[in-house]
Amino acid sequence: MKVIVYPGSFDPITNGHLDIAKKALESFDKVLILVADNDAKKARFTTEVRYEMVKEAVEGIKGIEVYYTHGLTVDFAKKMGTHYLLRGIRNNVDMAYENNYAELTHKLDKNIEFVYIEASKKFENISSTNVDELARAGKDITGLAPESVKRRYEKR
Ligand code: ADP
Repeated sequence: MKVIVYPGSFDPITNGHLDIAKKALESFDKVLILVADNDAKKARFTTEVRYEMVKEAVEGIKGIEVYYTHGLTVDFAKKMGTHYLLRGIRNNVDMAYENNYAELTHKLDKNIEFVYIEASKKFENISSTNVDELARAGKDITGLAPESVKRRYEKR
């Protein structure tokens, strides 16, 4: 059984994130989305709400599971019996950021293998930030983020 962990803030989850997770299912049996409980990063939504939105978004997709952790991603991966971490790449900015992230991660665990999947053209301009800006401006985010995210903004 090939398992990969997909860590991120998912603040909120977008269709770009979902696309990466689905594409990973072509090479892995299980994709474990790990919602980071990161105190240092000022999150728009609480960890619980971010987790709930992801959970609803992947309901019914075989092979995708959702978790959150207070601890380190590398420790979670070890606990789940994998050394693969999934990340999505949209552009050069992501690439530079990912280089940094990989370096830091390898300081914690040199056995981690990163798997990078390129964003589909259709989703490469979607970010949590622009979904948030549009939703807060009252714009329709259909196509950019899952229904669970849309509902959460409508409740606000
Ligand atoms: P983090 O705070 O760890 O960067 P994010 O939730 O912002 O977490 O992103 C998680 C991963 O998903 C990152 O590798 C990011 O580059 C990738 N990602 C974000 N948006 C997209 C998108 N539209 N298409 C493909 N990958 C994406």
